[in-house]
Amino acid sequence: MQAPKIIIAVDGHSSCGKSTLSKQLARVLHYNYIDTGAMYRAVTLYALRKGLIANNQVDEQALINELLNIHITFSFNEKEQKSDTILNGENVENEIRSLRVSGFVSPVATIKAVREAMVEQQQAMGIEKGIVMDGRDIGTVVFPQAELKIFMTASPEVRAKRRYDELLAKGETVAYQDILQNVEARDHLDSTREESPLRKAEDALVLDNSYLSREEQLSWVLDKVKTLLHED
Ligand code: C5P
Repeated sequence: MQAPKIIIAVDGHSSCGKSTLSKQLARVLHYNYIDTGAMYRAVTLYALRKGLIANNQVDEQALINELLNIHITFSFNEKEQKSDTILNGENVENEIRSLRVSGFVSPVATIKAVREAMVEQQQAMGIEKGIVMDGRDIGTVVFPQAELKIFMTASPEVRAKRRYDELLAKGETVAYQDILQNVEARDHLDSTREESPLRKAEDALVLDNSYLSREEQLSWVLDKVKTLLHED
């Protein structure tokens, strides 16, 4: 008999390794992985390209009017063994990770209509379960009924260093202090916004991975999955 499939919701602060853990989990469990941050980033990239962000201000109404023209999907990249983000047919996986997009994504993600549009798509993606989804509001808003909820965190300095190394490896010229500032600014905006603020769901398990290796955190979560599926 096939094991029942569950929904795994992974929430937490920026750059604390949610996507690394979620990708590993999806691979081991043969589940789908959905990076919801990539969806908000793609909306932000669209807004930047259309000139809907000027003088550091997002033109909310103009962006809301464009929402029906923004189609976001994921395509599995066999070579890199990961999903790429596709915006209206174009692979934007690299562009959405730039510091420019990171600088505006949190204000864009505070817009209620943007969130509603994204949440609707995310819920549709989880209809058959067997999914690992990471973000800020997955366990609280998107899938409050998820069988397993993980709330990840790590110190801002550890997180900024990880993102810094990641961007450097991609050849971007960035300053560590700028990244740290961005991480702290996003933490603040994400946790204090009115719409679906980042908070731990009451039934979420906390995973502070400041000093855990990737292997350690994966086996920690896999133990929880096994217990849930009564496979231990
Ligand atoms: O996960 P990542 O850092 O790529 O997400 C980018 C931004 O998108 C976050 O800083 C947050 O403002 C927003 N976001 C969100 N809700 C989610 C996922 C991401 O508000 N579910």
